[in-house]
Amino acid sequence: MPDVSHEPPTAAGPLDPRALSDYTTLRLGGPAGQVHTAEDPQQIVHFVRAAARNGQPAMVLAGGSNVVIGDAGVPGPVVLIRSRGAEVLEQTDDAVVVRVAAGEPWDEFVATAVDAGWSGVECLSGIPGSAGATPIQNVGAYGQEVAETIVGVEVYDRLDDTVRRMTPDECRFAYRTSVFKHNDRWVVLSVDFRLARSNESAPVRYAELAKALAVAQGDRVPLREARAAVRALRAGKGMVLDPADHDTWSVGSFFTNPVLDAAAYEFLRTRAAGIGDPPSWPGPGGLVKVSAAWLIDKSGFTKGYGGRGGVAISGKHTLALTNRGQGSTAALLDLAREIRDGVHERFGVTLHPEPVLVNCSL
Ligand SMILES: Cc1cc2nc3c(=O)[nH]c(=O)nc-3n(C[C@H](O)[C@H](O)[C@H](O)COP(=O)(O)OP(=O)(O)OC[C@H]3O[C@@H](n4cnc5c(N)ncnc54)[C@H](O)[C@@H]3O)c2cc1C
Repeated sequence: MPDVSHEPPTAAGPLDPRALSDYTTLRLGGPAGQVHTAEDPQQIVHFVRAAARNGQPAMVLAGGSNVVIGDAGVPGPVVLIRSRGAEVLEQTDDAVVVRVAAGEPWDEFVATAVDAGWSGVECLSGIPGSAGATPIQNVGAYGQEVAETIVGVEVYDRLDDTVRRMTPDECRFAYRTSVFKHNDRWVVLSVDFRLARSNESAPVRYAELAKALAVAQGDRVPLREARAAVRALRAGKGMVLDPADHDTWSVGSFFTNPVLDAAAYEFLRTRAAGIGDPPSWPGPGGLVKVSAAWLIDKSGFTKGYGGRGGVAISGKHTLALTNRGQGSTAALLDLAREIRDGVHERFGVTLHPEPVLVNCSL
């Protein structure tokens, strides 16, 4: 049965079924106390509830594409989210509301949407992981983020021991975060997306994508063209999983783009004098989002940097820290610290990790 996890690293498959490295895109992470596979929402609730009753809160793991798990692993149980399916709840001439199971592979859902003529997630093509994890960090790329289309999230609330639906307001979506990130109170069971019924994409906002499509920013293109262009751009950066390519053994971007107030941005510009202004995007309230990749590169950490301990910056993208095959979480975090501290020394800006760190710290 296909599932949300990536290919195991060896043809022989996992030797220890508790080895979490077999369930993460970094291929890193020690063993879990137990690993339970939950194939529907009832099983998810059952395993999470049973673990709590045993006094050992369960860790929820889906595609393993946004977690860094310590080499010692996690002592308690891990629940693998493997529920599947997507169903249309409502349909009008203009829109559909689709409920997607938490364990549905995200990119398969995007492919389904593009084939069906549902517009609104096409620029999120090629992102690994599960549909249920997309609200956690408000997954985004190429000018789209899931907060624009999510109309409800069904959760199991560990605190109240109840299942309920949360509104987008309650989810408190923001840039690469939400109420769910770094807070394991809620387990996502399914996500409702409201998508436009159209064979045309949403207006293309991202300059690099517009250029690849040879259109102006704000233009619409056929959904299939948008998906193909996004996947091609991503593949060129090692941002589409490929078991044979170590540049994709990552969590995608390791650091978020820093968001600076006006004073901090001016300070950064003085530090960058002589090498040009960093690529930046204006945000609400005078805030400025700055390219973390540029800061890292200009601090001397270029593509391919590293190699000690079997980890290195991807050869295709400065923001991706990768396992070259023999890496460890300890070595990966050493590299991340070196980069974070080097960028701070050079530009006075502190980078923050995008993935969730489990039983390890930066
Ligand atoms: C090559 C590559 C490219 C990437 N590109 C992008 C990108 O362009 N944009 C982007 O935003 N992200 C990107 N990512 C990061 C990642 O794919 C997304 O964050 C994805 O949504 C994570 O899904 P997952 O199922 O793998 O989550 P996991 O890694 O399994 O889990 C991540 C966190 O969410 C929690 N979680 C997972 N499922 C649930 C659930 N059902 N309920 C409650 N908590 C849950 C976990 O406990 C953990 O804390 C990329 C990653 C890789 C490896």
